[in-house]
Amino acid sequence: MIDPFGRTISYLRVSVTDRCDFRCVYCMSEDMNFLPKPELLTLEEMDRLCAAFIRLGTNKIRITGGEPLVRRDVMKLFGSVGARLGRGLDELTLTTNGSQLPRFARDLAASGVRRVNVSLDTLDAAKFAEITRWGKLDKTLDGIFAAKEAGLAIKINAVALKGVNDDEFDAMVAWCGQHGFDLCLIETMPLGVIDGQRVDQYLPLSHVRAQLRKNWTLEDSDYQTGGPARYFTVAETGQRIGFITPMTHNFCESCNRVRLTCTGTLYLCLGQDDKAEFRPLLRSGASDAELDTAIREALTRKPKGHDFIIDRRADAPSVARHMSVTGG
Ligand code: SAM
Ligand code: SF4
Repeated sequence: MIDPFGRTISYLRVSVTDRCDFRCVYCMSEDMNFLPKPELLTLEEMDRLCAAFIRLGTNKIRITGGEPLVRRDVMKLFGSVGARLGRGLDELTLTTNGSQLPRFARDLAASGVRRVNVSLDTLDAAKFAEITRWGKLDKTLDGIFAAKEAGLAIKINAVALKGVNDDEFDAMVAWCGQHGFDLCLIETMPLGVIDGQRVDQYLPLSHVRAQLRKNWTLEDSDYQTGGPARYFTVAETGQRIGFITPMTHNFCESCNRVRLTCTGTLYLCLGQDDKAEFRPLLRSGASDAELDTAIREALTRKPKGHDFIIDRRADAPSVARHMSVTGG
């Protein structure tokens, strides 16, 4: 699948629920309204769409949310999509807050998942509770170590938050090095209304990288996961560190992905509203050929890129939908 700007689209992210057992301050407001259940695609409908994308050339699928592991019976989807590995699909992975990994890590490994991204913004229990509002650090750490035990490679995702975790990045590099995890730092993006001001949270990663270089040797690396991060190897630990910089550096020219929400809306860009609706098509008995045509048509509308701004004068977010709806 090639989009109008010549980019090959080979990566699908699927948000299986907009719900979550945490309420991270940069992601959600405390009092969120979630979608009514009948609006959600069934797991079978999601699997059918994944199959269509694989047929058209998608070779990597990431399951996300919301918190994907709180969707009832989600392991059935991992089972059915995982069965397509080696038959068009090269990689099935997920992004999770880790809270449910003690229950599911082994099943994930059994369904063919080899790598998992776990979001962890701090190693300090009090700060963790503050950032996630409802989460417990111990539970997420148990989840991370359950995943390691199950043989999954782990990448820790941390959103860089000014005045919150900016004094911890050295400790996180060391901790990840000690346990054999890669680390990926992310700039906060203006997606959806939250309770605080984005501008108060925003920390450009160019500053963070300069700070880290005082204590660590960051060697250029051409490692790529198919995602938007730019990677370095930390010479002292041998682990990788990635930087996702949607704000300071626009990475859209190499975008290879589209996102399917739990209601069957395909968003062609995280930062724009261009979309296609698949739920009516699925529920009106569309054939596989009709689904394929609709996917191809949607891709002709993939925009060139996002234009996020974080500005105290702009009281509305750049994009109204939360990351938990579109799928991170
Ligand atoms: N619940 C799972 C988790 O937290 O990993 C998966 C979904 S979450 C929306 C995916 C990723 O998006 C997480 O790493 C989270 O930190 C990040 N995220 C959420 N809102 C964000 C925002 N406004 N800017 C940048 N990253 C954000
Ligand atoms: Fe939930 Fe993930 Fe959003 Fe945190 S970042 S509220 S864990 S969806």
